[in-house]
Amino acid sequence: MLPIEHFHFCPRCGQPLSSGAKQAASLECGTCGFRYFFNAAAAVAAFVRREDGRWLFIRRAKEPGQGKLAPAGGFVDIGETAEAAVRRELREEIGVTLASVTFLCSQPNAYLYRDVTYPTLDLFFLATLAPGSEPTVLEEVTSVGWFTAGEVAPEDLAFPSMQAAWRQVLAV
Ligand SMILES: [Zn+2]
Repeated sequence: MLPIEHFHFCPRCGQPLSSGAKQAASLECGTCGFRYFFNAAAAVAAFVRREDGRWLFIRRAKEPGQGKLAPAGGFVDIGETAEAAVRRELREEIGVTLASVTFLCSQPNAYLYRDVTYPTLDLFFLATLAPGSEPTVLEEVTSVGWFTAGEVAPEDLAFPSMQAAWRQVLAV
């Protein structure tokens, strides 16, 4: 269920929300006029390329997409830039420091967590590691490795957004 479908009462005045109070991406209380917008959450991920042409992928430790390959990444914090978020997430997940970070593309996605389907906007980057930086397994990851482009088919990746972005990398 989308986040809006979990709201049955106005969060401000507590009155029941009529069916007409909910539009596709916002709710408006008919009693007190409270209006709330449901926006996509911003997420980031990086396709990291090594000098020998191999690409860095992690295997996800948790649902959604548990056990599937993915570029490392995560959600953008409030008040954080996407560039800072991708550097932070890769440091937290696999302990690396990024050197270059270049925007690749964005893709909408749906992220199911505890019965709530969060619409996201996934921002993908191409990145390189700082000299001497080596990936290691830290958070939310079961393994990490370097793969040739031919070893990772788009369908092997956890989400359709990642698959589309990876197809874009492979097409270059
Ligand atoms: Zn209200």
